[in-house]
Amino acid sequence: MPDIIQLLPDSIANQIAAGEVVQRPASAVKELMENSIDAGAKTIKLIIKEAGKTLLQVIDDGIGMSETDARLSLERHATSKIRKAEDLFELYTMGFRGEALASIAAVAQVELKTRPADQELGTCIVVEGSDIKKQEPVACEKGTSISVKNLFYNIPARRNFLKSNPVELKHIIDEFQRLALAHPEITFSFIQNDEQIYDLPATKLSQRVVSLFGKSYKEQLATCQEETDTVKVTGYVGKPDFARKTRGEQFLFVNRRFIRSNYLNHAVMNAFEGLIVENSFPFYVLFIEIDPKHIDVNVHPTKTEIKFDDERAVYAVVRAAVRQAIGSHNLTPAIDFNADVNFITKLNNANSQSKQVYFEERFSTALHRSNSENWEKLYESPEVKPVVVKQQDEIEIPAVQTLRFESAINQTTPATATEEKALFQLHARYVVKQVRSGMMIIDQQAAHERILFEKFLNQLKNKSGQSQQSLFPQAITFSAADFALALEMQQEIEALGFRFDVFGKNTLVVNGVPANVQTGNEKELFEGLIEQFKVNQSELALPLQENLARALARRASIKTGQPLVREEMQALVDSLFACSTSNYSPDGKPTFFIFELNKIESYFR
Ligand code: ADP
Ligand code: MG
Repeated sequence: MPDIIQLLPDSIANQIAAGEVVQRPASAVKELMENSIDAGAKTIKLIIKEAGKTLLQVIDDGIGMSETDARLSLERHATSKIRKAEDLFELYTMGFRGEALASIAAVAQVELKTRPADQELGTCIVVEGSDIKKQEPVACEKGTSISVKNLFYNIPARRNFLKSNPVELKHIIDEFQRLALAHPEITFSFIQNDEQIYDLPATKLSQRVVSLFGKSYKEQLATCQEETDTVKVTGYVGKPDFARKTRGEQFLFVNRRFIRSNYLNHAVMNAFEGLIVENSFPFYVLFIEIDPKHIDVNVHPTKTEIKFDDERAVYAVVRAAVRQAIGSHNLTPAIDFNADVNFITKLNNANSQSKQVYFEERFSTALHRSNSENWEKLYESPEVKPVVVKQQDEIEIPAVQTLRFESAINQTTPATATEEKALFQLHARYVVKQVRSGMMIIDQQAAHERILFEKFLNQLKNKSGQSQQSLFPQAITFSAADFALALEMQQEIEALGFRFDVFGKNTLVVNGVPANVQTGNEKELFEGLIEQFKVNQSELALPLQENLARALARRASIKTGQPLVREEMQALVDSLFACSTSNYSPDGKPTFFIFELNKIESYFR
């Protein structure tokens, strides 16, 4: 048999490695910026076009490279950062695999310009898909500039696989924010499509947090500081009552390297226990310093996971640091659990017309009874499982319905025959309804999220979202990053029914909101939409439309704890079974549960 094994040519080996190191523009940004940090840069500038798809460039004023090093830096496993295996356990630099530049150069058109401070002329190298196209001396600034054009130009499958610009931009912003937080002593700037998104002068951490996330963070930070023989934890946490308003951004660094750790996140959340409401997230940016010999970062090429040899000890210190921070600032849980819970009182104070409109819009899907009134039949026999009922297009709401809703608020309508069937709310959380096979318990929030999700997704697909004009247009000032995101998604956001205009730097005016949500809290809703979009993005990586529909459904839905009147409960039930998937919320939680009659009977035997 002839020998059949061959060594892969470098260009192919590099492309394969690139698959691991460079998944998207954001990963290239991360690698390039980390190299600049390792090179001792004082100033790092990031320039991107079209969310990094056509151009991403990182310019630094670090040590630069000699001509030979510049050439070598593009080879795989070429690194100045480790020399021997033991070095792996004493790592203080961000990079160490010597794969990044070679990988990027394998899948893009790269121009590298670099000059060490002690040389007059620098080096310029142009590489395309691992092919060196040009190498020549060049006059340039001290430091290194690497521009990456048309990422994945030679691997169409991967290029097509890239997400929409807002999504890719969000990933880049994430990487940028992490590095900017970890290195407040470095000046950073970030320009996308000629617009400056960030301009961050060198400063201290607290100030960096404020310049990244906004002035509102100023009063919200509590200092963390805790140290043992082996571990030191420093940084800031947001005060607990702050956690409720926006989803706190959460950052954990180990030796200044951003990491994800459910375990340590739990330590932080545990310290907040009892101080924040369920499903709210405190802000934190925490730095763990630990001797590198107690950790292993060589777990995954993208390096956001890490192994500690004594994880429990780290957990304890993190928890103690946060506890102490919350305690020392004498933070009491200043949470108003009652706010916004009883919308009926609120509605009664509003004029009756808006009251009416609100009820109609909120449950408008429910009102095509023709479609859904028979849903109950589906559950006549205990064997029948939830069946798909197709949702129909919106229909006009007849005046009679309006009347019924109106009077329901005043609670003067005599119960009709069908309504006499048991239907009530349990603990302001569940709607309990008699069905032929027994008793149905509906989770009101999960159900309403499902209803709104399908509605919004439909609107996005058909670009059919109706807008209602705001009586008092509200201005919202965003962080530069969120502002850029909102603009990138303008088309989709408007398809949902929002209307907004740009109003000065980082500020939008919201003139209209989707027809089927309550007016009066446009600001909260819009901000919430962006926040939720980001959470979904980082946790679920959903397609854009689904993400937005889910985000808005989550924000606009009835919440657990909200009292409902009978008409609302009825509408909720009907709308739920007019959905194409009634039995699960958009994030997969069951929306209802049926207690079979024979099961109930069995308890009494
Ligand atoms: P690694 O960072 O893992 O060593 P890279 O492929 O990212 O691998 O970089 C290879 C080498 O190129 C680095 O070890 C470093 O010596 C050099 N290098 C890369 N970027 C820069 C930069 N911005 N400034 C100076 N040297 C750099
Ligand atoms: Mg590197």
